[in-house]
Amino acid sequence: MRRLFIHRVCAFAIAILAACNATVAPAQSTAMLDATTARIMQRLGALAADSMEGRRAGTPGSVRARAYLVAELTAMGAKPIGARFVVPVTLRARPGSDTAGANIVARIPGKSPSGPVMVLSAHYDHLGVRNGEVFNGADDDASGCVALLTIAERLLREPPEHDVILAFFDAEESGMVGSKAFVNAPPVPLDRIALNINLDMVARQDGKALWVSGTSHSPALKPIAQEAATNAAVAIRFGHDTKDLKPGDDWTGSSDHSAFHNKGIPFLYLGVEDHDDYHKAGDDAAKVDPAFYRGTVEFAYALVRSADTKLASVTRPKL
Ligand SMILES: [Zn+2]
Repeated sequence: MRRLFIHRVCAFAIAILAACNATVAPAQSTAMLDATTARIMQRLGALAADSMEGRRAGTPGSVRARAYLVAELTAMGAKPIGARFVVPVTLRARPGSDTAGANIVARIPGKSPSGPVMVLSAHYDHLGVRNGEVFNGADDDASGCVALLTIAERLLREPPEHDVILAFFDAEESGMVGSKAFVNAPPVPLDRIALNINLDMVARQDGKALWVSGTSHSPALKPIAQEAATNAAVAIRFGHDTKDLKPGDDWTGSSDHSAFHNKGIPFLYLGVEDHDDYHKAGDDAAKVDPAFYRGTVEFAYALVRSADTKLASVTRPKL
């Protein structure tokens, strides 16, 4: 994700509000985690490991991350849309990088395969290695990718009404190259894509809340998200999606959902406020509170289920 400013006063006020209202479970030791949370944390550790070298687009570390995601999708029984999960994307040439990038795209078949579809997205690239330090990007955005894997496993067990497309985008950090390529050459006609739910930075609880952004553009999505938030174990806030906000506080253009928004497709973006390790080498899996992260994954799953049942009612915003 790319943001211009952090407004500390606003973040402080939000933290106070969240502390008053939120029921955030305390951190647990790894040994005490239930199997689902342990699996989520294990995957996060794998994708944000030093061996992935920060997953910068066009590097060997990116290729390793890609192989990991494809192996996880294959193991759970997910299927690509065409012949392969890997969809090549051309990157802008950069020193030390190749121009060959790739999105990873899978499809979970719904019970009504010809109707509207939902695209769940996260980006697997991050910033790579800088001055000998690996930028692991555990929160940004290994966390979104692992959430997608978890949701995909459940959807495969209990099929949704509508087709769900999983998109693990490359090169978000270099200008949302992967998501722009996706909407410019979509695997299904764009007018079938009723909704994009984009997860980018969903694991850090520093701001005490998970934000749902996008409902100001598509008000019909708000009750759908509110329904999902009813039993959420983490505090859910709505906003960061209006033009009257200071630069950087309107997240409409901040991550891969913007590619969908620019094509007139409604989106819901899930993410946390920037934190001290945002775009720093300290964005490690060890800094993630497993209970908070599990809570955001559960909310995302509930949101997907809620949206799936009402997908036909989601209408496009006027641009
Ligand atoms: Zn990001």
